[in-house]
Amino acid sequence: MTYTTRVAPSPTGDFHIGTARTAYFNWLAARASGGRFILRIDDTDLARNNHASIYVIHDCLDWLGLAPDAVYRQSHRRDIYDAAAAKLLDAGLAVRADNGAVLMKGGAAAPWHDLISGDQLPSAKAHDLARDQVLIKADGMPVYHFASVVDDIDLGVNLVIRGMDHLTNTFRHAGLYTALGAAMPDFAHVGLITMDGKKMSKRDAAASLLGYRDDGVDPDGMLNYLLRVGWGPRQDDKSMKIIDRDRAVSLFLDHGKMRASPAAMDLPKLASFDRKYKHMKRSA
Ligand code: GLU
Repeated sequence: MTYTTRVAPSPTGDFHIGTARTAYFNWLAARASGGRFILRIDDTDLARNNHASIYVIHDCLDWLGLAPDAVYRQSHRRDIYDAAAAKLLDAGLAVRADNGAVLMKGGAAAPWHDLISGDQLPSAKAHDLARDQVLIKADGMPVYHFASVVDDIDLGVNLVIRGMDHLTNTFRHAGLYTALGAAMPDFAHVGLITMDGKKMSKRDAAASLLGYRDDGVDPDGMLNYLLRVGWGPRQDDKSMKIIDRDRAVSLFLDHGKMRASPAAMDLPKLASFDRKYKHMKRSA
């Protein structure tokens, strides 16, 4: 299977270390399968967008050496979302409200299969969230859920690896794929990186990828660390400690597994990878 994958950060602040991990896993799946890795900038939330953060996203991917094959900005693709909304309006599956917003006319969440956690059945709450969901807001901008699904269809994305915090969203997305008559990509929701038992917020200093770059951390050490947060080789022994990018490409899909359980941010472990990579580079 050839995978088209994407990482989809919102330009609303620092580049989160969890997004770096998501970027790496999606990059690996694309490289390992001879596919494409897309950077999609989710910039439809006009109130929260911050232009400088777009440069931060590019800086971070450059620093890690994860070059995208294509870059899209959602704010430049409004005609595509409008066309998808028009299709649903024409089919009688959506309605336009008095204020101009477009919403689903009824609609339901749909079951789906997670590559890591297996079959997922919608709860009553998931149906509530999917029913009558807004697609295009009164200001003409699409909501994240709609734009994300329309883009993944339009760009041929067939594998989405993202954080567990999106698992509940996927029920709504599944309903939208059905309404739009498109096949769902494969989804894999990986366990979150936590600190003190909680999801790391964008405001945690340790969550900012640029902080590590500015502290002089080796980017390959960072990648090796990120690989082992949420992925493990099928046969784990000493030879699996150092897995650089090239080796990760050959192991990621067929010789290891992503995990759904959360993993605590381990700064000493990151420091140890950092030392190892610096040492290897000095002696090379
Ligand atoms: N913009 C969303 C985020 O930042 C993308 C989530 C997704 O991968 O669909 O979390």
